[in-house]
Amino acid sequence: MNTIRSVLGDVDPATLGLVDYHEHLFQVSPLLLGDELNDEAASGSEARLLRASGFDAMVDATPVGLGRNPEAVARISASSGLTVIAATGAHRDAHYSADHWLRQLDASSRAALFLADLHDGMPIRDNQPTRAETPTGDPVRAGLLKAGIDYWSISPFERETLEAVAIAHAASGAPIMVHLEYCTAAHEVLDLLEGFGVPPHRVVLAHADRDPNPASHLELVARGAWLGYDGIARPRTRSDAELLTLTEAVVAGGGLNRLLIGGDVARRSRYLAYGGMPGLAYLGNRYLPALRARIGHEQVERILRTNTAQFLTWTPV
Ligand SMILES: [Zn+2]
Repeated sequence: MNTIRSVLGDVDPATLGLVDYHEHLFQVSPLLLGDELNDEAASGSEARLLRASGFDAMVDATPVGLGRNPEAVARISASSGLTVIAATGAHRDAHYSADHWLRQLDASSRAALFLADLHDGMPIRDNQPTRAETPTGDPVRAGLLKAGIDYWSISPFERETLEAVAIAHAASGAPIMVHLEYCTAAHEVLDLLEGFGVPPHRVVLAHADRDPNPASHLELVARGAWLGYDGIARPRTRSDAELLTLTEAVVAGGGLNRLLIGGDVARRSRYLAYGGMPGLAYLGNRYLPALRARIGHEQVERILRTNTAQFLTWTPV
């Protein structure tokens, strides 16, 4: 049966609601020292702020080895009423120490690990045998696969992860998010995944908006890929104004049905509940009203409700 797999169980795609396609409730990486998301109470408060800003659901895009805490995510989901779809997979090479245990696994072993997260449930802590449980005693399962690459570069570790998510996708049908640096090597990633049997229409290119070129975005859409726009509230690099103009142009060019939107706030220093700014609610409270004024209410609904549900739907065996 077609379903969306959340940390609290399977959800009918028609009832998922408005979805933020890319956030993090927990994240710890050597690349983000001092910016850890590792406090359940604070992450829970931030989840409630996201819920109050109008979202019904979010994807927690933290993959294996980066401080995932599935039981805490399940508790936060249950107490906040925010549906959470958790990720499995691996991030780009630079997020893992040189001696990280994940590097010891070849593509098929990694795929087996990712499939266990999707089908059987995630462990309490990565690389530990005990399975996490929801507040009602069920397994806490992942609902999408993640991979990542660097700036115009796909390292052997990253290539092996892409192969692993492709193997896991072939066995499950679960959707795939790929982290890109400034949207570089997007076609190369799609080529590689296609070579492993993954059709582009099961892949979202995260951070596509970091290269705000409507013509190249429409080429990616023509291949079937989803575009993840998640660079909101970062005027030092790209302003919201630029993002609004990009979105308007891509929608005008026929790309509406392949857009997903998220905040990817991702850092302690940007979470209100951890003492930072602007928080997860910026997207719903500040950005979306501006986007609705530019492209229309129904178009924004289409992106947040219909598109995200379509992308996240699979048929677990
Ligand atoms: Zn992210």
